[in-house]
Amino acid sequence: MKLILTYIRRHIGLFATALFFLTVEAMADLLQPAFMARIVDDGVKNADVSQILRYGAIMLLIALAGAVSAVVRNIFSSRTSQLISKEFRSDLFQKVQTLSLENIDRLQPASIITRITNDVTQIQEFINGCMRILVKAPITCIGAIVLVVIQTPQQIPMLIAILAITSALIAANMKLGYPLFGVMQKKLDRLNNVSREFLSSIRVVKAFHAESRETEKFDTASYGLATASTSAMRVMAVFSPLINLTVNFGVVVLLWLSQHQNSMEIGRLMASVNYMTQILFAMGMISNILNTSVRAMASANRISEVLNETPAQKSPDAPKRPQWRAEITFDDVSFAYAGAGKEALNHISFCAKPGETIGIIGPTGSGKSTLVNLVPRFYDATKGCVRIDDIDVKQIDEEALRSAVAVVPQKALLFSGTILENLRWGRENATMDEITRAARIACADAFITRTADGYETRLGQGGVNLSGGQKQRLCLARALVRNPRILILDDCTSALDAETEAIVLSGLRRHLQDVTVLLISQRISTVRKADRILCLDDGVVQGFGPHTELMTFCPTYQAIYHSQIGGEKNG
Ligand code: ADP
Ligand code: MG
Repeated sequence: MKLILTYIRRHIGLFATALFFLTVEAMADLLQPAFMARIVDDGVKNADVSQILRYGAIMLLIALAGAVSAVVRNIFSSRTSQLISKEFRSDLFQKVQTLSLENIDRLQPASIITRITNDVTQIQEFINGCMRILVKAPITCIGAIVLVVIQTPQQIPMLIAILAITSALIAANMKLGYPLFGVMQKKLDRLNNVSREFLSSIRVVKAFHAESRETEKFDTASYGLATASTSAMRVMAVFSPLINLTVNFGVVVLLWLSQHQNSMEIGRLMASVNYMTQILFAMGMISNILNTSVRAMASANRISEVLNETPAQKSPDAPKRPQWRAEITFDDVSFAYAGAGKEALNHISFCAKPGETIGIIGPTGSGKSTLVNLVPRFYDATKGCVRIDDIDVKQIDEEALRSAVAVVPQKALLFSGTILENLRWGRENATMDEITRAARIACADAFITRTADGYETRLGQGGVNLSGGQKQRLCLARALVRNPRILILDDCTSALDAETEAIVLSGLRRHLQDVTVLLISQRISTVRKADRILCLDDGVVQGFGPHTELMTFCPTYQAIYHSQIGGEKNG
């Protein structure tokens, strides 16, 4: 609630204007029946036409004022709620950009999407609802109660009874509804998660002919959401008519009682009945806004979860380095993913000298990607420390760190847009010469120029219209455009044929002599020419040294060697 108030406060002027017009509107509604009573009791009873006309004209004016206020209030309230929800969305988006991968792992991307879309909409509806009824319901309610008391004072006990019953009903409604709406939102997260997973792996799904399994998963999630929504709505469905019934029952009682009280004037009775209906409306509106508020609170909580995430801490006195020697030191580093039982990296220590190429080899799941992700601080070491040129990476200015380190991830990720735009991602102001040079080193230039539009060729989302090897080469070129001091290649030549891979690797050696390279692969042939090789198994260093040395001293490396080179000979 505090969160919502903070955002409302930014537009307090608009909000207050809407509330002002709302007050006028409520007053207008309240005055109508009182004048109606006058027309009937003074005008009609005494057959006084001039009285009727006079009160009629006043009623018309009041109605007009009410209508104009309603229009103006609507304009202001929709503008305010739209503005506020826009700000919620931008703030969330900006916040997500500052989060580390660890934060995002915990929050889950699908859930972040639901928060930016659905949860913000819930709050928008609540704010809009507030400006429709916030002061109107209390004014109408209290005003109508006072006026009923004035018009027909005998009815006070009945009025109290009705108010007590409706309040109890509304309270019960809230209590039952609140948890159900929370469940509903969770189910929506789940549904989004399933859809997202399916869409991002649609090729695998089709290849394995697993559509029916996916449909089943989707149906389960969809059914879950439907069930949760139904039970939440069922609570509403029971309570709103109950509240209506109570107030209408009150009207009946009022009419029935007045039968025995002839003293009551007919106009006043009409006005009282009218006010009872207004109380009914006000109660309905209150229970409505309370329902929306329950949902909005649940949503606000989910949004503050994102806004309150503490991103990887930037260090305040972070030294800026114009030129790195690019020496990487791992000093007794251990790392465990949040929520994972066991450590993915165990007491890793090694040093990569400036300009050195370090091969990293090990079976899948041995922790190779995890290890290199600690260098650009995608994750932070749980124990020990990672240093570049003897400075703890946690002490390095984030921007300086990211511009010194380029990563070619295991999964080749490209964006929709032209090839040139994708390469420029590396560095906005790179010249065409620098770009083609990078593309040549990555062996991408040849296939790019062969396409009809060359560097202007448009890529579909994620680069769907390229082969795996082509995507990998573009990602490598994009990293090279950056002119990094440290280059991390996470198994990014796996889709290349042996010949092209050899050309790419020798090109890198020739052109990037002073760049420190961490070269991950599962293949001996890829890493054997590296200056030194780190052999990793189950998060533990098995050996570190040049190929020949590991062949003599590291049994794990020997085993990998024999399984691969031996296999090639036999095959
Ligand atoms: P490699 O790159 O050598 O194949 P990884 O570094 O990707 O291995 O993974 C090392 C271990 O950490 C594996 O057991 C894997 O299941 C686990 N792991 C990887 N990424 C995550 C993650 N985001 N959350 C939790 N565990 C992870
Ligand atoms: Mg990996």
